[in-house]
Amino acid sequence: ATPTALMVGTGRGAKMGILIKNSEVLEEVNDVKTVVMDKTGTITKGKPEVTDIIGNEKQVLEIASALEESSEHPLATAILDKAKADQITSNTVDDFQAIEGKGVSATINGQKAFVGNDKLLNDVKIDEELHAQMIKLQNEAKTVVFVGLADQIIGLIAIQDAPKETSKEAIATLKSRGLRTVMLTGDNKRVADAIAQEVGIDEVIADVLPGDKADHVKALQENGKVAFVGDGINDAPALTMADVGIAMGSGTDIAIESGGIVLMKNDLRDVAKALELSKKTFNRIK
Ligand code: ADP
Ligand code: MG
Repeated sequence: ATPTALMVGTGRGAKMGILIKNSEVLEEVNDVKTVVMDKTGTITKGKPEVTDIIGNEKQVLEIASALEESSEHPLATAILDKAKADQITSNTVDDFQAIEGKGVSATINGQKAFVGNDKLLNDVKIDEELHAQMIKLQNEAKTVVFVGLADQIIGLIAIQDAPKETSKEAIATLKSRGLRTVMLTGDNKRVADAIAQEVGIDEVIADVLPGDKADHVKALQENGKVAFVGDGINDAPALTMADVGIAMGSGTDIAIESGGIVLMKNDLRDVAKALELSKKTFNRIK
């Protein structure tokens, strides 16, 4: 091996904002067949905004913001921003609980309250009209969360996270190189499909619980080497499992630590550039 070629390659990458942290990934890139991407913060901007509220808007926001005060999820930030803009003062809560991949719950004035997706509802029934509204909003690529109080749904909040401007071009480039593109997300299938269609992704795996992302990567590895691109805490195991783990520089520390390559510009187009640079560098050093 020629260490000079490796240094030149990694140096060139660094100038482009592509950090090759782990030179072992260079051996894998030639055989990558599939690029798997997380949705929120990777394909999309990761800055979700509240677009619609169904129900008594003030009450829905009061309850939802009280619960989301203790959450660090991007959806929580969107709800708190909206409550602030509408000058809603939220109640204090007891017994706060975050339920991975589902939502949050707590007690407000002795009553059980929750904000989250349909997996969190258990026995609470959604009436037909609300269900129809949920489907309509999800088809518009909006994430829907239900707000519940005392075993009743009091409303829903729709939240939109638009794709990054460069995501569509990035995916077209990957596909033109013969790579299979897959979105892997904890969000709802309808929302994920709508975003996938906007940006041209081949395949969608949705409703994935945080702990299951790595298993999906493993299954995809049966068809050849896999690159995984992600940014969240819940992406760390998948980044480690993948043959080439690529983290967004804007991601959480644990995601960055788990990636062999880090994209400092958070631009999905740099995935294709990183793969190309790694290939060239490897072909020079081998
Ligand atoms: P991803 O980052 O892949 O989109 P997550 O596992 O973080 O997925 O979240 C999956 C789903 O769980 C969200 O789309 C939402 O429906 C629900 N959820 C998670 N955390 C919250 C929260 N704090 N408030 C409301 N809903 C939440
Ligand atoms: Mg993410």
